[in-house]
Amino acid sequence: MTDTDGMTTAERMTTAERVTSIDDLPVRDELRGKSPYGAPQLDTPVQLNTNENPYPLPEPLVARIAERVAEAARGLNRYPDRDAVELRTELARYLTRTGKHPVATGNVWAANGSNEVIQQLLQTFGGPGRTAIGFEPSYSMHALIARGTGTGWISGPRNEDFTIDLAAAEQAIAEHTPDVVFITSPNNPTGTAVTAETVLALYEAAQAAKPSMVIVDEAYVEFSHRDSLLPLIEGRPNLVVSRTMSKAFGAAGLRLGYLAAHPAVVDAVQLVRLPYHLSAVTQATALAALEHTDILLGYVEQLKAERDRLVAELRAIGYEVTESDANFVQFGRFDDSHTAWQRILDRGVLVRDNGVPGWLRVTAGTPAENDAFLDAVRQLKKEQSA
Ligand SMILES: *Cc1c(COP(=O)(O)O)cnc(C)c1O
Repeated sequence: MTDTDGMTTAERMTTAERVTSIDDLPVRDELRGKSPYGAPQLDTPVQLNTNENPYPLPEPLVARIAERVAEAARGLNRYPDRDAVELRTELARYLTRTGKHPVATGNVWAANGSNEVIQQLLQTFGGPGRTAIGFEPSYSMHALIARGTGTGWISGPRNEDFTIDLAAAEQAIAEHTPDVVFITSPNNPTGTAVTAETVLALYEAAQAAKPSMVIVDEAYVEFSHRDSLLPLIEGRPNLVVSRTMSKAFGAAGLRLGYLAAHPAVVDAVQLVRLPYHLSAVTQATALAALEHTDILLGYVEQLKAERDRLVAELRAIGYEVTESDANFVQFGRFDDSHTAWQRILDRGVLVRDNGVPGWLRVTAGTPAENDAFLDAVRQLKKEQSA
């Protein structure tokens, strides 16, 4: 059948409209049947599921961001500073001040969230024919970014208490000789910190067969009881520490992650980064935030105290809690963690079921949000022991 324009209906449909689902597209084999990353975002009164900072940015910082962004806006006809030198200098200053180790501009690289930093690292050091290992349960994005970059993924082991099983980890590294080793400290979703001794042992293991990169993901380190592992980059060009402004800085919406490493690593990631990847608006906003680290780190102290309170109260109620150095707490155990998750949600509190059998994860929120959560799990305990 033809219309007035002489085309059949099928002819007028674009190719995109005729395609009914992702399965009809010639996507790469390793992406077939997979789901995108994402925590369920439900509209509940209390949302303690994504490890965000519950405190909005302080007003003086908001005003300063507006000022710096306005300044940047006047130059938006031009591409941004491709190398983000001013921002990297301020990040280096922050790391030097808080990381107990001198860091220079040339040691730092920044991108749109530490996820992009990790993607650039895997594009540089992973890729087709290469592999990466992580010790699971851990941050699921490491495996997903590996897949996205065509890097093979090896799931390494952990102990019952979620610390890294060093002997088993060394054996897995010796067996698979991965090109990239991920160490998440504090680990997500368990909250477990990794000691410098363990990182050094894994670094040595990773260099035994061939030089391999070790990426220490310190997304939550500002919340830790321990010092940063940053000083370990000294004299170890294959060790990278990745950081983010999404958690401690309360700026998840900003999308700013960064790494500290030997300057050669910074040179290497520039081989894969898109030109002008970090917008002038992002750079201006991050620079404004870095002017206010004292206020932001003040919130971190409050959240650490709330995290410790959650641990203590959960234990008092009768739950098992994994030792936490992050802004969240893993608690259990449940015969059926999904049902427990639903019961807590029924009381208006959204926590995270990360698929670790028997365990759930709750992000430290404001004192009032944490009280609401504690009430919910107190009720749940009563129900379950009734
Ligand atoms: C939240 C998180 C990140 C942060 O990712 P961004 O892209 O910087 O928001 C990185 N690593 C781990 C382990 C995380 O939990």
